[in-house]
Amino acid sequence: MIDLHITDFTDRFFFQLITIGQELEDLGLDLWYSTRPEPTSLRKRSIDAVFRQMARNPMNKGELWILPNPLEDNGPVFGYTQGLNALVSTYELSEEEVVKVIKHEIGHILGLPHCPRECVMRNGHPSTVPATFCRICKNLMKGRVNV
Ligand SMILES: [Zn+2]
Ligand SMILES: [Zn+2]
Repeated sequence: MIDLHITDFTDRFFFQLITIGQELEDLGLDLWYSTRPEPTSLRKRSIDAVFRQMARNPMNKGELWILPNPLEDNGPVFGYTQGLNALVSTYELSEEEVVKVIKHEIGHILGLPHCPRECVMRNGHPSTVPATFCRICKNLMKGRVNV
């Protein structure tokens, strides 16, 4: 069982997170979420700097932050995962696109690589990526969380 804690700094995705949690419930993933609205500006944040702010998580505990700020690596980034920590930027994305990025990064937290099929794990702009996991990725996640 993997615990995943999602913190929504935009305070906008409560219902979408409930839906994602229900969708992934059968995988044995325990999804927790909280909101921590940040009254700060939409200044650009570097991925490294945000990761330094995040707690280092013990094994089997994932952490995902939803931020309103644009994120920068070498160029603009919508989502990024490193080990069990992940970031999602809602900057200039629609609600529907943000939900896809959240699912995509959860997939990475659970160890999925990018997927060439009709699948939310496909690499590309969130507007062009399907909204659901393909059967193969779902099975891979199942194997990962049930160990
Ligand atoms: Zn990816
Ligand atoms: Zn897939």
